[in-house]
This record gives sequence, C-alpha cells and structure tokens, in this order.
Amino acid sequence: MNRQTRFAHRNELALARLYSQLPPRFPNAVWRKVVSMRRVPDTLSEAVQAYWQAHPLRADRLARALAAQTGAPDGWSWTLDIDRRDGLPTHFRTPPAPYREAAHWRGHGVCCVCGQPVYRYGWHRDIWGDGRPSRRATWHQACVTAWKFWTAPHANAVLLKKRQRLRCAVTRKRLLRGAQVDHKVPLFQVWREHRHEPWPDLLAFWGIPNLQVVTREAHTIKCAGEAGGRAKARRAAVEHASIAP
Ligand SMILES: [Zn+2]
Repeated sequence: MNRQTRFAHRNELALARLYSQLPPRFPNAVWRKVVSMRRVPDTLSEAVQAYWQAHPLRADRLARALAAQTGAPDGWSWTLDIDRRDGLPTHFRTPPAPYREAAHWRGHGVCCVCGQPVYRYGWHRDIWGDGRPSRRATWHQACVTAWKFWTAPHANAVLLKKRQRLRCAVTRKRLLRGAQVDHKVPLFQVWREHRHEPWPDLLAFWGIPNLQVVTREAHTIKCAGEAGGRAKARRAAVEHASIAP
C-alpha cells in the first residue's frame, strides 16, 4: 500500500468512526466541512474547531454577538497593567475581556471571552438538549478562533484581501505581496479616545469593522501620520503638565 493509498484509507476509517459517533442534530455546516477536508479530523471536537478555523470572520461576528448578550459585569471598566513606554500603556493591543479577569471569571462551562455557556464540542448553543453547559470547557470554539483573529489579524491576510477584491482600502491600487493588514482606528487611539465606550462594542475595534488591507506604501504613510499624531499628543501632555499648578 503506497503512502497515498494509506492516507485515503486512514481518512475512510476516520470518517466512519466520526459518523458512528455523530449525535442527532450535529451542525450540518460542520459535517459538510468534515467531509470536504483533506485530512479528516480524529474527533468531533476537532471537527468543530476546524470548521471555525475555516470561518474566522463568522467567528468574529458570533463572538461579538454572544458577548453583547452577556454585557459587561457591573462596575467593570477597561484597565491595563501600566508598564509605561513613551508615555503610553503597552497592553492596549490585547482585546478587553472582562471574563478572562480573575475578578469576573465565571468558572467552567462559561466562555471566558463572551461570558455565555459552552455546550458539547465547544458549541455556543445547546442544540443537543443537554440542559447544562460543559463541565470543563472555558472557551467556545468560535471564540477561540475569534480571539486568534483579533490578536493576529495578519494571519488571515489572504481572506481579508479577497474580501476587498484584492484592492487597497485606501488607494484602491491592486494589493500585491507586501500588503499589510491595518487597524483603521489604530489600537493606541482606541485606548486613548475610546476606552470608556461600552463593552463589548469595544471589541469591534479588533474585529472586521476596524480592519483593512492596504498597500505597503499606504501603510507607511498612514503609520508616519499616526506617529506624528502621537508625538503631538505627548508634547501637548508635557506642556499641560508644565503649566498645571
Ligand atoms: Zn464565547
């Protein structure tokens, strides 16, 4: 049996095993993904994970919608561990997530990103009628993908480029190899000017509403403008401090 045949045989066995484990009402979209995969996953949880990994934009939207159902905990506000550099906090790149903080963590069975119950296979709805959340899970599979998307959007550059029909969001020029994924409102500015906005609306700054792909040249010009803005803000802060009583 050559390598290719062995691989095909392995896939057949894996598919048969998954099919035998399939509960009633398994999401059709996930099963369609399973049968189309080059390497069939070993478990149904891995199948759900693979489905969301293939749909990061959908995961982004869903995670924000789930978080909107929960809302922020009473009295919570977005704060940072202050580790000052150039007069700015350094951790504003991490999306605000109150339910990941020890003070608001809701325990097992609740997603630490959106605060909603986690069900079988890390799914976000109890479509199996289990009547209770998972005893161990602390993330929805969708929220894992959304979190990765929010914290490393450049990893999905190909998808984001396609969404813009391969045109730069600023210059409309064709996007070539050096194109960059960019936050329309830079994250330092989100922290500086928007941090008191309600959660989870804030998460949109990490998601698709605030992401664009631009040419390398457009990105360089935009970054230079942002750096100038930051320097101006720092000078204004110093002048303000020096004239304050
Ligand atoms: Zn979640």
